[in-house]
Amino acid sequence: MLTATKITVAPCKLLINGEWTDSADGKSFDSVNPATGEVLTKVAEAAHEDVDRSVKAARTAFDDVNGKWRRISASERGRILWRIADLIEKHIDELAELETLDNGKPIFESRHVDMPMVVDVFRYYAGIATKIQGETINVNETAFTYTLREPVGVVGAIIPWNFPLLLASWKLAPALACGNTVVFKPAEQTSLTAVRFGEIAMEAGLPPGVLNIVTGGPEVGALLVKHPLVDKIAFTGSTAVGKEIMKEAADSLKRITLELGGKSPNIVFADGDLDQAVKGAINGIFYGKGEVCNAGSRLFVDRKVHDEFMTKLVERTKKMCPGDPLDPKTRLGALVSEKQMNTVLGYIEAGKKEGANLVTGGRRVPVGGNEGYFVEPTIFGAVKNDMRIAQEEIFGPVLAVIEFDDLEEVIEAANKNVYGLAAAVWTRDVKRAHLMTKRLRAGTVWVNTYGLMDAALPFGGYKQSGFGRELGAHAVEHYTELKSVWLNIA
Ligand code: NAD
Repeated sequence: MLTATKITVAPCKLLINGEWTDSADGKSFDSVNPATGEVLTKVAEAAHEDVDRSVKAARTAFDDVNGKWRRISASERGRILWRIADLIEKHIDELAELETLDNGKPIFESRHVDMPMVVDVFRYYAGIATKIQGETINVNETAFTYTLREPVGVVGAIIPWNFPLLLASWKLAPALACGNTVVFKPAEQTSLTAVRFGEIAMEAGLPPGVLNIVTGGPEVGALLVKHPLVDKIAFTGSTAVGKEIMKEAADSLKRITLELGGKSPNIVFADGDLDQAVKGAINGIFYGKGEVCNAGSRLFVDRKVHDEFMTKLVERTKKMCPGDPLDPKTRLGALVSEKQMNTVLGYIEAGKKEGANLVTGGRRVPVGGNEGYFVEPTIFGAVKNDMRIAQEEIFGPVLAVIEFDDLEEVIEAANKNVYGLAAAVWTRDVKRAHLMTKRLRAGTVWVNTYGLMDAALPFGGYKQSGFGRELGAHAVEHYTELKSVWLNIA
């Protein structure tokens, strides 16, 4: 039996101009619990008219120079963000449970990793709100020249399903701190925490129209991208959709930032701490069920320690069974949807056909007598770097292990991939550690650890993992325009 939830999940409405409303054509879709396949609730599916109204509400809230949002100080904006953080902290158990019900991730992750970081991100940008500044630049004696940093305007924030509220916070907190207004579209698989967040943001004092939430599928996102009154699209999702968005945004020359897919190399040298590296490899691929953009899905192991390493890795992996997501002891939950599970199982079949060695896992398993979307932690050995399972993003608990002999060979193989989101290196040699961090083409490189993040440290991709950085002070560059002022004082 799976743990029963005490939460009643109400049907989700759209948030437009500070009011909760059904969609204009009355349509809705099901939100499904991936651990059971059961419908959790109905979610309003925004129609064309709803997207248009939400963008216009955001536009008015931004443009009205006498409006509330334009008149409040940076300090007050910071206070509202801080209040949002306080309210998330107050409701942290409820939000974590909603996230787990909707996404299938272990409650341990939602409660102790995702939600605390959401709180941190809002507090970080609450502090940033009063530190957005231009500069004075001395050009000559007869001019007073300076720059102003101004909000971009209406931001369309489009989010995937793997870290629903966390990835939303990476966009909403800096966008609001900089004084923008927002239309937020969560992923259709995971709308519940987005809607609850909307209630919290209203309670914290965001004026009407500053944050609008439109739930629905890809069409809703596409309408936002096309809308002429949206100034910027902040997108996290797949590389394929990122490319479509870039093309669509070209017509109106919208600003865009794209946080896309990954196939990150995790590289173990023979002189690394092998026990720590085994833990890092497991964390790298099985955390978040492997539905993680920076998952360490390509594991390169020095041939000198390969057999010893594999024995330890497989032993630990076999102890990891998929379990009830609401059980605090569970470390591997349910994949987000039947579709995603089938994609993952398809890649497992492809790996077998390509001749890789299925060392452990590989099957769908029932949990608690339910037909949820659970897949065993899976490891392939004897993988060649050009196999599909080594090159394509699987987005599930499937690890491809590749042996290597020397440093140049592993650098070349690690970089030989269209993605460049993250990478990791395990070594005790400090010279090699620095050399690797310079040579790996990735937005984040971890040394002797995997997956650590902080609200203050920028995150984003090289190559087809996208562009623009989220988190940290650099995010401000993507949510502001830079204006130069030249004042003649001759
Ligand atoms: P997806 O690209 O299918 O969808 C992401 C969002 O875009 C959803 O809200 C979806 O409804 C919307 N969308 C789909 N088509 C659209 C279109 N044509 N126009 C506008 N919006 C559209 O991605 P997904 O399956 O939800 O998420 C998994 C992907 O996200 C993986 O590739 C993963 O690597 C990536 N991801 C990247 C990061 C990062 O920070 N780089 C973080 C998390 C996830």
